Amino acid sequence: MSVTGETYTCNNCGATYEKAWTDEESLAQTKVDFGVHVRADDEATLCDACYALMIEWWDSLSAEQRARIARNAGYGDTAESGP
Ligand SMILES: [Zn+2]
Repeated sequence: MSVTGETYTCNNCGATYEKAWTDEESLAQTKVDFGVHVRADDEATLCDACYALMIEWWDSLSAEQRARIARNAGYGDTAESGP
């Protein structure tokens, strides 16, 4: 964790916070927590509280539901092509 001095706006609650993680660190953590490749250009920035809720929700899904969501969002391992 490093302090970047930048701010971000949470996509879920709309609040603005100071970035405690770099984009790179955030993406790496997302990969660990969700097991999907979130693209850097995908602006699904969440604050810590909303991120925790998202993980809770994700954990409550079945493997099939997760796979479908990841596929629809283009987070699959092979889905690197844009629209
Ligand atoms: Zn939030």
